[in-house]
Amino acid sequence: MLANLGNFNPDTDSVKVEDMLEIDRWALSRLNTLISTCREGYDAYEFHTVYHAINNFCTIDMSKLYIDITKDRVYVEKADSFERRSAQTALYLIINAMTRLVAPLLSFTGEEIWQAMPHSAADNKVSVFLNLLPEVNPAYSFDKADKWEKLFDLRDDVMKALETARASKLIGKSLDAKVTVFTESPDALDHLGKFTDTELATVFITSGAKVVNAAAPENALKSEFGNPIAVLVENADGRKCDRCWCYSCEGEETEDSGFICRRCRRIIGNF
Ligand SMILES: [Zn+2]
Repeated sequence: MLANLGNFNPDTDSVKVEDMLEIDRWALSRLNTLISTCREGYDAYEFHTVYHAINNFCTIDMSKLYIDITKDRVYVEKADSFERRSAQTALYLIINAMTRLVAPLLSFTGEEIWQAMPHSAADNKVSVFLNLLPEVNPAYSFDKADKWEKLFDLRDDVMKALETARASKLIGKSLDAKVTVFTESPDALDHLGKFTDTELATVFITSGAKVVNAAAPENALKSEFGNPIAVLVENADGRKCDRCWCYSCEGEETEDSGFICRRCRRIIGNF
């Protein structure tokens, strides 16, 4: 998180919460839950509650999901683009609140983070201990959080299928793959229909994704988690972009016989 806030000024570069991309708003809704749990834990002197909540937030909500999924946007999009600023705003708000929450338990670590991170004019930069614990922010509540959490449940099946494909040497990285989700369940179709193919590929960290309303073929991996879906992993179409490592059919050859996708071409302009 620190590494991705290097050129971020919270006072001038922040995106308004209501304008942020949905997955960034989901991350802030999880932050609200974390703040609420930690404050209750501190009030009751139940420090293990605080420790468990922060540990789960870091390993599952952040590491396994949010940071993994937004890595492409933060690394690949133009430095000052709306898409990147939206993710940076969420990262900033999260690290700011999380550092204040860990400081009573991990004082030196909390203070080191506070010294290394950017700050808004509202913060006391001198020490994390001269700032109050964060409070639950009503602006962070997000009515579409369920929609994303249900997708993350299905994502476990996709990750399992990608892992199997990696073990059998069909693919190396998940970006080498395209996935097809087969389902005949009206509920699953209705839910998955709320996402574009690009959003699904972003969440699965693949170079392509689609949903097909049909029975699964033999070679698709059936859900191990009780979801009414099966997942087929195949090699992605097109060529691998030298800049973002996604496979794409639309792009151009570079002077040194490399390949750059249309998205990256647009981002770097004539550079
Ligand atoms: Zn690219």
